[in-house]
Amino acid sequence: MIEETKTLERNRRLLMDRSVPGRVGVALPALDVPPQPLPAQEQLRDELVLPEVSEGEVVRYFTGLSQMNFSVDTNFYPLGSCTMKYNPKINDEVAQLPGFSQIHPLQPEETVQGALKLAFQLQGFLSEIVGMEATSLATMAGAQGELAGMLMIRAYHLSHGDKSRRTVLVPDSAHGTNPASAAMCGFQVVSIPSDARGNMDVDALRQACNSETAGLMLTLPNTLGLFDINILEICRAVHEAGGLVYGDGANMNAMLGQTKLGELGFDVLHINLHKTFSTPHGGGGPGAGPVCANSLLAPFLASPVVERATHSDGNKETYRLTEPEHSIGKTAAFHGNFGMMVRAYTYIRGLGAEGLREISENAVINANYILSALKDYYHLPYDRSCMHEVVFSAKTQKAGGVSALDVAKRLIDYGIHPPTMYFPLIVEEALMIEPTETESKETLDYFIRVMKDIALEAIEDAQVLKDAPHNTPNSRLDEARAARRPDLRWKQAEA
Ligand SMILES: *Cc1c(COP(=O)(O)O)cnc(C)c1O
Repeated sequence: MIEETKTLERNRRLLMDRSVPGRVGVALPALDVPPQPLPAQEQLRDELVLPEVSEGEVVRYFTGLSQMNFSVDTNFYPLGSCTMKYNPKINDEVAQLPGFSQIHPLQPEETVQGALKLAFQLQGFLSEIVGMEATSLATMAGAQGELAGMLMIRAYHLSHGDKSRRTVLVPDSAHGTNPASAAMCGFQVVSIPSDARGNMDVDALRQACNSETAGLMLTLPNTLGLFDINILEICRAVHEAGGLVYGDGANMNAMLGQTKLGELGFDVLHINLHKTFSTPHGGGGPGAGPVCANSLLAPFLASPVVERATHSDGNKETYRLTEPEHSIGKTAAFHGNFGMMVRAYTYIRGLGAEGLREISENAVINANYILSALKDYYHLPYDRSCMHEVVFSAKTQKAGGVSALDVAKRLIDYGIHPPTMYFPLIVEEALMIEPTETESKETLDYFIRVMKDIALEAIEDAQVLKDAPHNTPNSRLDEARAARRPDLRWKQAEA
């Protein structure tokens, strides 16, 4: 009898190892054009080894690979701060309409009026959602939005002849991209501590504000999943020192229809369409990180933005790409990730204002449901209601020899993606959980039961956690090396 493991091994073989000389996967039609001469012999590669396989083998190989993927379409994915919410399929259907998917960025504007109108309206929706004057859709990731925003702040101060503003204040709970973006613009980063309740230490902020302050970068709710109750005071302190406030709005899942950052005192911010607005996010992108700015900074937005012109006859509107007056320039070869704009637009139109507000209500309720169910099992460093995500610490488990990493790896055995770990940095053994609004109570209850079981296992059978995951093709990987020195080349086995 063939053992099951042998079958598994067979299914996992690489495409090259399935190759049989002379086997083909396609039958090409007869040539119906004049044959063309091949390039010169020295330009042809004869050492190129390609797999010779049937179509069936190719399909099995790639389908097998796809089944090794973990995705939000297959399982619960509570990856804090990343907002791995369900991506409605209608977004993709709309993005595939030929008027959106078959156009080229170099086409004359009069032939892509519908696409430009969509971008124009999306700029308006996003500006309204965050309470800002204008939006540029050109930036293609949250981090790129941050960079653009910091360049705008820099350009703003320089345009006022103010060359002394060299420092940017960043709380110690910030996402790592914040200090990195500020530093890439040449600013010096000054870290502001958090207080015992998880808010920014306002006294420390006041002391740090001076005539060299270019601005503050702030995430609200912060990366502890907490709403900073001193936000008005914080924005005022920075403004009084002549600085500007940048909002890291990567994650707006707790804010939609509830509060507008622009009304709280933020001057410029980015939004991640691939988080809050349900555009796909796995595998590293493609992302979209639009930047929204108030009237002070709108003239500095990245180019292009879409503008509407109403003609003298009153009823014909046209749309065109334009450059804001003091634009920091282009951040993308063309206009940004247009396919993502279509998906986010579809999402917003599908939900409407009321639906958007409900997203936030449900995201916050779901996170607090998990918070209250698990706080007797995992240490809760800031014991107060959370917003869209909750940060626990596995420090109790750690004392018994089980780390946050072990807990996270064990979740994989139960079909749950690990939460974000070891971030924010100010929480030891952090487990940052964001359920999102798209999960059912049944899924949350299953997750809670699994987390309780794992807490018990940590006491009774720690080794099972340390060896986890047990039923994946590979168990514990050297993740840093896998990302930095990937070995993706097939090599012929030694004869
Ligand atoms: C995800 C995230 C970012 C970075 O966004 P990318 O699109 O990954 O570059 C920045 N800040 C916060 C708070 C985030 O959660």
